[in-house]
Amino acid sequence: MKILRNRQKVEAFWQRVAKNRARRLLMLDYDGTLAPFVPARMKAFPYPGIGRILERILESRKNRVVIISGRNAKEVRRLLGLNRAVEIWGGHGTERLLPSGRLVRLPLPQASEKTFRRVKDWARAACLSGSLEAKHGSVAFHVRGMKKERASALIEKVTEFFEGVSMDSGLAVAAFDGGVELRTKGMDKGRVVRDLVRDMGWACACSYYGDDFTDEDAFEALYDNGVSFLVRRRFRPTRADVWIIPPDELKDCLLRYIL
Ligand SMILES: [Mg+2]
Repeated sequence: MKILRNRQKVEAFWQRVAKNRARRLLMLDYDGTLAPFVPARMKAFPYPGIGRILERILESRKNRVVIISGRNAKEVRRLLGLNRAVEIWGGHGTERLLPSGRLVRLPLPQASEKTFRRVKDWARAACLSGSLEAKHGSVAFHVRGMKKERASALIEKVTEFFEGVSMDSGLAVAAFDGGVELRTKGMDKGRVVRDLVRDMGWACACSYYGDDFTDEDAFEALYDNGVSFLVRRRFRPTRADVWIIPPDELKDCLLRYIL
């Protein structure tokens, strides 16, 4: 574990967690953070032992746990396979799966829906449907597992297409680790974090764990209100306060929420 900045804030945060005085808001990304990357996306299960730790955290009423992912929320729930209900915000915050099982989806502008259909048609015609992930509020194109040259050629081709169709559609093109995505403008993990922190109130001990470029919005949103953790084997420049290496350092951190 390496504290990158705001050492005082980070130490004060852990003290508050240890003293068990405040409510805690624990926000976690899924892919690359709780689960290692695998070429078969639908088989990206959590690191061994992580599920049990999360269940124990959920057993404590002091913790509100929220998983925030670019994936569809129900997909995350299936992959997590927890024996306890957990709140999951999917599609970068365009849908919300409540612990009760109710799924709340933000309505999308008609122009976005039309563009997503156009992307799907284009991918089918280009024989690329297998790499396309259609979600509520976004479509993602994945190249994980492909040879480097093919991956970068496809990223270039798809980015160009996404940029063309995103004009005047209320959508934005964003790169992530292993692909490129077309998503609803203004809907990012930073907005989700701001909404959740506001909902919990200033006295809450807030933290966020993530690995990807899309998590940087969340790190920034938490700057004044909590502590952010970059979860990655290899370091990269980040706005997070702390860098940890999964799965061992992640487990060490999460165990501290069990009281
Ligand atoms: Mg991730």
